[in-house]
Order: sequence, then C-alpha cells, then structure tokens
Amino acid sequence: MADTKHRALHHAASHPDLEEVLFTEDEIKQRVHALAGEIKQVYGPGEFTLVSLINGAVMFTADLMREIDNPVRLDCIRVKSYGTGTRSEGTPQVVASLTLDVANRDVLIIDDILDTGKTLALVCDLACKLKPASLRTCVLLDKKARREVRFEADFVGFEIPNKFVVGYGLDFAERYRNLPCIGVLKKELQTAPAP
Ligand code: 5GP
Repeated sequence: MADTKHRALHHAASHPDLEEVLFTEDEIKQRVHALAGEIKQVYGPGEFTLVSLINGAVMFTADLMREIDNPVRLDCIRVKSYGTGTRSEGTPQVVASLTLDVANRDVLIIDDILDTGKTLALVCDLACKLKPASLRTCVLLDKKARREVRFEADFVGFEIPNKFVVGYGLDFAERYRNLPCIGVLKKELQTAPAP
C-alpha cells in the first residue's frame, strides 16, 4: 500500500485544477497490475463475474479486466450517491441493476472508492439476495477515515487520506473523470457551482 503523504511533494500537479497529485498514471498502472495478480491468486484460473459500479469505476474496471486472463463476464450497476457536491447525500440508490444472472457464480464487485461504505454495503446486500457462489469486493481507493458503516473490501489499490479526489473515473459534478492521474481537487473549486 502506498504512502501518500510525501508523494504530493514530488509531483507537480498535472492539471491546473488539482492542488496535488496523489497517484500518477504510471503508479496507477503498476498498482492495477499487482492487484490483478492478487485477484488471480484468490480465484485461480476459473471464470468469475465482474460487477462494475458505474460511472466511477469505469476506467479502473477497464484496466483491471485487461490484466486478468481468466474467462470473465462483465455487468454494471449504476448507483447514485453523490449529487454535484463532495459529500454523500443521504442513502445511495441503485438506479440500474444487474442484467446477468449471478446465481451460483463467483462475483467480484468493483468500485472506484470506498468512503462511508454505504454504497458497497447496499450493493453487497442486493447481490447476496441473488445467491452468488461467492461475493468479493475490489476498490481502487480506500478512505478509511470516513467510514460510517462497517465495511472492508477484499482487494484495495491504495489507502488515501480524507481528501476529495478526482481523476481516473472519479468526478466532481461529472467532470475530471478523464484525467489519467488521481489528485485532490483545489478547495476553491470544490464549492464553486458547476458552470
Ligand atoms: P460511499 O458510499 O462509500 O460513501 O461512497 C462511495 C462513492 O462515493 C464512490 O463510489 C464515489 O462515487 C463517491 N466518492 C466518495 N469519495 C469520493 C471522492 O473523494 N471523490 C469522488 N470523486 N467521489 C467520491
């Protein structure tokens, strides 16, 4: 797990709206590769079903699944948990659920970031009801300090401090998802209304 504290000092922000870069494109790539190795060790060579929480996990899922050579199936769940701000707004809601049958399948749920834990707790509850053979979770980022419900992911890319981050799929008001790095959005931009 990477120590993020000193990292920012060594990286110039790659986008003018970022106050610091936590992980560069290269660092993400290396960690995703290693994470895929950890996943393959647990699942062995068999087939499993990836369930990606969109939109945030789009980039992570696309890169992670390319590093896995098992036969995999892919489905998505769309959960709405944030409006245009930087804090959870009430209870997350599933707005589009699974279309694949996951009964008796090994299921790996993939999300961008584990924050309060409410989203993954909700999605795991939902998935459990569909009687998968096994259910695990993988998140790229884990913001442990913000946890409100007890939840630990089975696979974690990086632990990060309690800061609002964007890039590599993560947005603020639907922007910045396409940044190849992950960084902390400047404070003054976190409160500005989206133009
Ligand atoms: P949770 O339900 O664990 O509080 O939140 C999970 C969701 O909140 C994530 O999938 C993500 O969409 C959003 N989220 C939490 N922290 C951040 C953050 O620092 N940046 C961004 N862009 N989204 C976040």
